Amino acid sequence: LISFGSSEKFRFDNYALYKILPENGEQIKILEDKMSDLRYDFWSVPSAALDYVSVMSSPQHKNELEEFLHHHQIKYNIKINNIQEHLDKETVRTYRSNSSVSMEWDSYYKLADINTWLDDLVATYKGIASIIVGGRSYEGRQIRGIKISHGSGRRAIYVEGTLHGVEWITTTTVCYIINELLTSDDTDTKSAARDFDWYIFPVANPDGYVFSHEQNRMWRKNRRPTTGGHIGVDLNRNWNNNWLVIGASTDPANNRYAGLGPFSEPESRSLSTYIKSIGDKIELFLTFHSFGQLLMVPFGNSTAPYANYHDAINIGRRAMGALSVRYGTQYFTGNIAEAIYLASGGETDWVKERIGVPLVYCYELRDKGDKGFLLPEDQILPNNQEVMDSVVELIHQAKRFGYMGGSAVSTAIYTSSLLMFSLLSLCIFL
Ligand SMILES: [Zn+2]
Repeated sequence: LISFGSSEKFRFDNYALYKILPENGEQIKILEDKMSDLRYDFWSVPSAALDYVSVMSSPQHKNELEEFLHHHQIKYNIKINNIQEHLDKETVRTYRSNSSVSMEWDSYYKLADINTWLDDLVATYKGIASIIVGGRSYEGRQIRGIKISHGSGRRAIYVEGTLHGVEWITTTTVCYIINELLTSDDTDTKSAARDFDWYIFPVANPDGYVFSHEQNRMWRKNRRPTTGGHIGVDLNRNWNNNWLVIGASTDPANNRYAGLGPFSEPESRSLSTYIKSIGDKIELFLTFHSFGQLLMVPFGNSTAPYANYHDAINIGRRAMGALSVRYGTQYFTGNIAEAIYLASGGETDWVKERIGVPLVYCYELRDKGDKGFLLPEDQILPNNQEVMDSVVELIHQAKRFGYMGGSAVSTAIYTSSLLMFSLLSLCIFL
């Protein structure tokens, strides 16, 4: 698809981002078939639930794409004319250790800076924050995260970003959540931090994220050489649950290549081992992707509701209501198969089915195809704020529905059974 020298940065001169607007099932089908044409990079997948498809084209193939769309009478807009021009304006800030200035929310950061920042937080919040390692990448990097805990025995919330290297907004979102949990003065945020053990990984695909910064901004997969000289597997198609059943590719050149087998990749394999090790504690599982403004619940290969499906949807919708308050940003809540498209071998399906976590959500953050993966820096803070609002509301609603370690109802039952037990004991002793 894209070839480049070993150290020079790939340039996207005159590459364009198209927002294609299919109007019926037939046009969606035509675009689905077009996905196998690897000259075009589908940033999003054709779906009946979404009214657009984002596609990046090189300058050499723009004309052919436009002719193809005209031929099938499919409408489109060009959202970015020259992607390189956009990349030249993108700012990556440097974080300086132990400065009075914390991480800022108007630019993106490299992996090394995020790791330094995590170290500083752990030094500052001794006894509350600690470094955790969720696994190891193909190139030997740690999947590094932070645990925030105000005491033992609490139920856990798992948060993860950047399973796909290109999705930089998810990295900063997860960093912002960490920052809020440790520094916020807001009452609800503080109690969310205190009441649960938080296991948080800003970058689940460190090799892909580093490669996206250093060599190819649009890199999605991990960096393990596969077959035919190709590199990388889609780490969200490689989990051992309905692997390669649907919505994944057997072509190693494809961006949604599922790998040679379930958990063939060190990142998904080691991370799954880590998740399993804390699995019985996890009450709420949140993974952040971009883009599309969606909140999705499992499963990716079926629209059939599972036991607490309706709870998950209702809790999610209310949280997305809270998300919209600050800036009016609208998210659609649904299951993966209906909200986006059929896909299997994904992380959240595995977490739901194999680990049995009660509430599992996958966010697709801003936007809806205007800038896609290249979300402008002035949207970082608003995005992060509204997402944090929604996370606090998710916890609040989950409690109301009886999750997160007990509702008023279950506490009442617990208390009354304790009372019964005491009375019985009393009877025995008397
Ligand atoms: Zn993703």
